[in-house]
Amino acid sequence: MKKQHNNTIIWFDIITIFPEMFRAISDFGIIGRAIKKKIIDVNFFNPRNFAENKYKSVDDRPYGGGPGMLMSFKPLYLAIQKSKSILKDATVIYLTPQGKELQQNDLKRLISKKKIIFICGRYEGIDQRIIDNQVDEEWSIGNYILTGGELAAMVMIDAISRLIPGVIKSKKSIEEDSFSNNLLDYPNYTRPKMIQKMSVPELLLSGNHDQIRTWRLKQALGTTWIKRPDLLEKKLLTLEEKILLAEFKKKFREKNNC
Ligand code: SAM
Repeated sequence: MKKQHNNTIIWFDIITIFPEMFRAISDFGIIGRAIKKKIIDVNFFNPRNFAENKYKSVDDRPYGGGPGMLMSFKPLYLAIQKSKSILKDATVIYLTPQGKELQQNDLKRLISKKKIIFICGRYEGIDQRIIDNQVDEEWSIGNYILTGGELAAMVMIDAISRLIPGVIKSKKSIEEDSFSNNLLDYPNYTRPKMIQKMSVPELLLSGNHDQIRTWRLKQALGTTWIKRPDLLEKKLLTLEEKILLAEFKKKFREKNNC
C-alpha cells in the first residue's frame, strides 16, 4: 500500500529505465524541496525489473524491419500494472513527439488529475499496443526528437509542480510569469542601480506602486507585441491595455524609425 502523506497534492509515478536521471529535479531547487516536504510524491517503476528474460532486456527489433529497436510490450506493461495497482485511478501519459504540444494553459487541467503515471520511451519508441491499450493521453514538449522521454517527463513535472500551492511561495510571481494571461513577463532589474553605465529605469526606484504597475503592464504588452505577437492576437485587451500598447508602439516606432 502506498504511503499517504497529509500534505501531498500530486502523485507522479514514472515508468523509466533511467530513474537516476530524475535526480536532476529531485535533488535540487524548488521541486527538490517540494518532494522532500512531500507536497509532491514521486515514485519509479523500472521496466527492466519486470523483464523476464535472462539478460533483462527491455527492447526488441520492430516487425517489418527498419532501423533501431523498440521497447517491448511485456516489461512496460508489467511496470505500468504495478504502478496502477498502487496509484489507483491515475492518468497514464506517454511522452512522445507525436503527442499534443504542451502549453502553459494545459497545466492547470493536468494538476487537477492529481495522480499521473508518465511512460518514458527509449530507442525508436514503444510497442503500439501499449499506446492503444494503456495510455490515456500523449504529450510532446516540442517539435524535436529527444533520445528518451525522461527529459520530457521532467519538464512536465517541473512545469506542473511549480503551479501547486506551497511549491513557490509567491502566488503573484506565478500570475506575472510569461504566458499567464497571454502576456510575456516585463523586464526586471536588481541591484546595483548603475552598472557599466547602464541604469535601472528611474520609475522603478520611485516607490510609486501605481505607476510601477502601469509601467510593468505597458512593458509586458510591448514585449509581447515585439517578441510574440501571436499571443496578443489571442488576448482580449482592456481599454487601459489598448492605450498602453498604443503608447508603447508609438515610442518604439519613433525610437527605431519604423
Ligand atoms: N521514433 C519516434 C518518433 O519518431 O515518433 C521517436 C522516438 S524517440 C528517439 C525516443 C523516445 O523519446 C520516445 O519514445 C519518447 O518517449 C521520447 N521523446 C522524444 N522526443 C520527444 C518529445 N518531443 N516530447 C516528448 N517525448 C519525446
